[in-house]
Amino acid sequence: MNQTSDLFKRISQDKSKREIAYFTMEAALDDELPTYSGGLGVLAGDTLRSAADLGIPVVGITLLQQYGYFHQGLDENGAQIETEVKWDPKQKLTQLPNYIELKIENRIVQVMVWEYDIVGKYGYVVPVYFLDVNTEANDPKDRKINTSLYGGELYTRLCQEIVLGIGGIRMLRDLGYRNIVKYHLNEGHASLLTLELIRESGYSSYEKIKKACVFTTHTPVPAGHDVFDFEMVKGVISPVYIDYLKDILEGENPVNLTTISLKLSHFINGVSAKHADVSRNMFKDPDIASITNGIHSASWTAHSFQKLFDQYIPNWDIDPSHFVRAMYIPDTEIWKAHMTAKGKLIQLIEDETGKRMDLNTLTIGFARRAAGYKRADLIFSNLERLVQLGEGKIQIVFAGKAHPKDNDGKNLIRKVFEGMDKLKGKIEIVYLENYGMRLGGIITSGVDVWLNNPQRPREASGTSGMKAAHNGVLNFSVLDGWWIEGCVEGVTGWAIGPKPTEDNLVSYDEKKDTDSLYDKLEKVIIPLYYEDQDKWIEMMKYTISLNASYFNTHRMIKEYALRAYHATPLFQ
Ligand SMILES: *Cc1c(COP(=O)(O)O)cnc(C)c1O
Repeated sequence: MNQTSDLFKRISQDKSKREIAYFTMEAALDDELPTYSGGLGVLAGDTLRSAADLGIPVVGITLLQQYGYFHQGLDENGAQIETEVKWDPKQKLTQLPNYIELKIENRIVQVMVWEYDIVGKYGYVVPVYFLDVNTEANDPKDRKINTSLYGGELYTRLCQEIVLGIGGIRMLRDLGYRNIVKYHLNEGHASLLTLELIRESGYSSYEKIKKACVFTTHTPVPAGHDVFDFEMVKGVISPVYIDYLKDILEGENPVNLTTISLKLSHFINGVSAKHADVSRNMFKDPDIASITNGIHSASWTAHSFQKLFDQYIPNWDIDPSHFVRAMYIPDTEIWKAHMTAKGKLIQLIEDETGKRMDLNTLTIGFARRAAGYKRADLIFSNLERLVQLGEGKIQIVFAGKAHPKDNDGKNLIRKVFEGMDKLKGKIEIVYLENYGMRLGGIITSGVDVWLNNPQRPREASGTSGMKAAHNGVLNFSVLDGWWIEGCVEGVTGWAIGPKPTEDNLVSYDEKKDTDSLYDKLEKVIIPLYYEDQDKWIEMMKYTISLNASYFNTHRMIKEYALRAYHATPLFQ
């Protein structure tokens, strides 16, 4: 069978065969679709790409934002300059003729829909629907609901969540999906869909709804959980849902979307073993399972490594468990592929900053959302020590956006710039602007060491380190999130700070973390890089073999299929 034929494509789009609706506020589907802000969106995109590759009968539902997540510029002091990203959905998406309506503050709001098709390796299509309220029929106030991702006040956020949850279910029906048996709530943002399911079922019993819902919680940080005053919700949402809310929340209590998701899902999971543990404590719910996140292997592997894997590990992209065989790739080939990826990064740095970094110097990468708990400036805690151990021996690449409302995050970028300034002439450091998927791919594959030092236990999983591992880049990270499962000290990378124990499960010691960071850099990582390349390359192969083979979304979504969806992939 020619699996990529049009016929196959049509069969694979058959709506009656779709069983799982994946609801997510953001999704990173294409570098030119600015509809995501960070890790949650990238994970959603990778999940849907894996579903398409494996033929898992999923449809995606998300919200279209009229303006993309902002473009970041940085002035010479590291102050973030935000510019709106205008984009034209017509360039990338297809508008469908379907419309549905819902009620907000007694106004009828019309919702339209755009489609984006993800075509998997064998031609299977996962359609993703973008809901949009910027239609001429709507009140100007309502047309602004989806101006920007997580934008505006609490009111706007609530409206966005009504559109995604309630609008999403209505739109699925209007599009003809009649056989959806599972609704996957990717974070609490989607939880209002349960209210519409209750309404549809005639308010009979929650058991049926519960059986249909799967909830993945993504963060132990309180800001990640939406909570609204009951009174406020009452004034916004259609009155038909108020009684259900009272019932679920046991009175007119704050409307916590996480609580709703927890109460109305039969399968609930955290995104790493440790995060599930922390969530079980936080939500006082012993039944929270753990499915560790992954990344879509083919999307995050540098071209040079793709070619290498094609040659030595056939089928790595459809079944990444084959990565266990990475140990058999010749050392010289691994190094050559790595140098190609590193050269690309160094070229990009020169193009963007005018600075020429050195191809043979140990290069450390740190790129992620600039949020306080991620401590981008930890490596600058003791500049004297850093110079002493690293002058002429290391160079560092930073990147990351702070959310426009996150002043702590913005300060963090300024602090990194201060550190850069003080180290001028001693240690070469750059901060690349406008971190996104494309830049993420180039940085995670182009450095030698991937640094991550969040405050424990706030890193629910983390996925950028998994991208690094796919490219033989060694992780040097606090034992939190996925790294607790992925770290074999001195084999796949290195740990920063103490092991998590019962005592420090939910705490961290800044001094211990910093000392460990410097000590290991000085005594282990720098000497190994310059004095024992064979061992270094062996570690690169171990990280591909032990980490990439497991920390991928193909493995992850098969776990969801098996444990939560009870669905069978077509291809495996
Ligand atoms: C992978 C990725 C993330 C998530 O990385 P973390 O390690 O979870 O911080 C965020 N943003 C972009 C652009 C990415 O590519």
